[in-house]
Amino acid sequence: MIFVPQKPSEAQLEEEAAAPPEPPPRPQHVCLACRVPMTRSGELNFRVGGSVGGSAFLKGNWNELSEQLQPFSVYHCPSCGKIDLYEPGM
Ligand SMILES: [Zn+2]
Repeated sequence: MIFVPQKPSEAQLEEEAAAPPEPPPRPQHVCLACRVPMTRSGELNFRVGGSVGGSAFLKGNWNELSEQLQPFSVYHCPSCGKIDLYEPGM
């Protein structure tokens, strides 16, 4: 039996071309005071919008509709403890 190398089919070529590119490296966040790289602490969700205090009583539950979670990326400085918030994924 003779082994005949096969050319890759077009479907296989497309699959390779569709491979996701390497994700770009995260920008390095540096503490402005200490000039040291900040450590990523993870993502944090903040509740934004909605109502505060007595306005909830006046407006009823309609105000709750405007409340949503806003995620942030959290970094802290290992030297001075400063915390910085960035857009999610940054
Ligand atoms: Zn610092």
